[in-house]
Order: sequence, then C-alpha cells, then structure tokens
Amino acid sequence: MIRPERYGDVTRLRMSTWRSRSIGYEVSAYVTRGVLIDCGFPDVRRALARALDALRPTGAIITHAHEDHAGNVGLLARRGIPLDIGAPSLDELRAGRRVRAYRRYTWGQPAPFAEPFAPFDPAPLRLISAPGHCPDHRVVWDAERETLFSADLWLGVHVKVMHAAEEDPWRLVADLRAAAALGPQRLFDAHRGSVRHPVQALAAKADWLEQTIAVVERRVAQGWDDRTIVRAVLGGEEWAGFVSRGEYARANLVRNVRAGRRAAR
Ligand SMILES: [Zn+2]
Repeated sequence: MIRPERYGDVTRLRMSTWRSRSIGYEVSAYVTRGVLIDCGFPDVRRALARALDALRPTGAIITHAHEDHAGNVGLLARRGIPLDIGAPSLDELRAGRRVRAYRRYTWGQPAPFAEPFAPFDPAPLRLISAPGHCPDHRVVWDAERETLFSADLWLGVHVKVMHAAEEDPWRLVADLRAAAALGPQRLFDAHRGSVRHPVQALAAKADWLEQTIAVVERRVAQGWDDRTIVRAVLGGEEWAGFVSRGEYARANLVRNVRAGRRAAR
C-alpha cells in the first residue's frame, strides 16, 4: 500500500506491504516540483501504478539501485517517464542480480531492468554523490528551497547495522558532513520521513559514527576479535543481523572498519 503525506510542496509516498510491516520496514518515495524521487520496491508495483495515474510526474530520479528505491524502474520506463539514473546504478539495474532471501521476503525480487528510457534533466534539483551507503548512492538537493532528499544517507543517528562490504563508514561520515554543510532547512529521509533540525541531525550522526569508528579501531588495534567488539562496543548483534545471515548486521560495521584499516596500511 501507498499512503501519501503532504509537507507543503513535498509529497511523501509511504510504501509498505503486510510483509514489510511484519518486520518493521517501510520506504518512502517523494514528489517535489512534479518530479518523483525513487519508486519503491517490487511488491508495491500495483499501488505505484495507480499513484502514477494521479501524480503524472514529469520525470523521475533514482538515488541508487537498492530494490526498495529502484524496484519499479521498469514500470516508470514503460510509462514513458524520463529517468535520471546514475551510470553505476544503471549497470546494477541492467545486471538484475538476485537479492538474498530476507530482502526478497521484505521487498520482492526486481526483474532485470531491460526497458529503454528517455534521459531526464532534473534541474533545478541537483544530484550529489554520497557513496558511503553504497558506491552508486546519490542524494537530491533543492538549493532554492533548502531541501535535501537524503535517500539512505541518514536513517537515524545511532544506526549500528551496516551492509556487508559495500558500506564505507569513513565515507559515510564525510557524506554526512558534506550534507550538513549544505545547510538544509528540511530533510526527507527515505525510511524515517521528515527529519527535524536537519543540520543537527546530520552532524549528530556524523559525530556518533566517527566516535564509534574510533573505539572500534582502538579495539582492533588491541587485538580484539569481531565478536567481542560487537558485544562490548555495539551492545551485541541485532535481529536484522541474524535474519539477513550477516548481510545487514552490526558485525559489518566492525568488519568494514577492520578492512579499511588494513587497506590504509
Ligand atoms: Zn539503500
């Protein structure tokens, strides 16, 4: 189902299914200036098709290729909606990799993106690369309205889970600082919705993550193993870590810090 919420000139499209809700997940697409930002996950395709009949966007932006953001890109192309998709995201979508079982359960399996599409110029909206979350991740900045659509950049201050390998904790800190430096007055997060006090929220997460990385680095240098660090520093593994069999887990924060240290040497 899709539940629209209005924030002045911005419409939030809250997307969920009973399956995603059963494990506490939802995702949002946004419409601003007649432009759709992201298109939700495969299991909300029908609801999105109905919403598009009413919304009639002039174009759409895809922030990154994860299936909860780009899961209906084929539908948009078949509707003739011009698309702004970054080249690395497009490669991912064209490849149409099979997602793991827990993600398939939550969001559905996207079909490989095979449709042709017209390119879209999103100006005055600007796309800013923010590759800490994943290499192809971008956020959308509306300078005139001082509004940032942050996709998966923020997600909350104390987020201890991370994706395996593709998430770069140091890069994430840099992306958060860069976003805060834009001075957004409004922040729309793809999972948490409208965020109050955007600059403070972005800075608070950057600070917390930086401090957490420093503590983890210290423990790694002292020879602690991952499991002990997860338990002592991050308060143990969380439910998502078990369900995803480690693909989306607190242990990845430790592992990615350890790998980053090794690479820096
Ligand atoms: Zn994502």
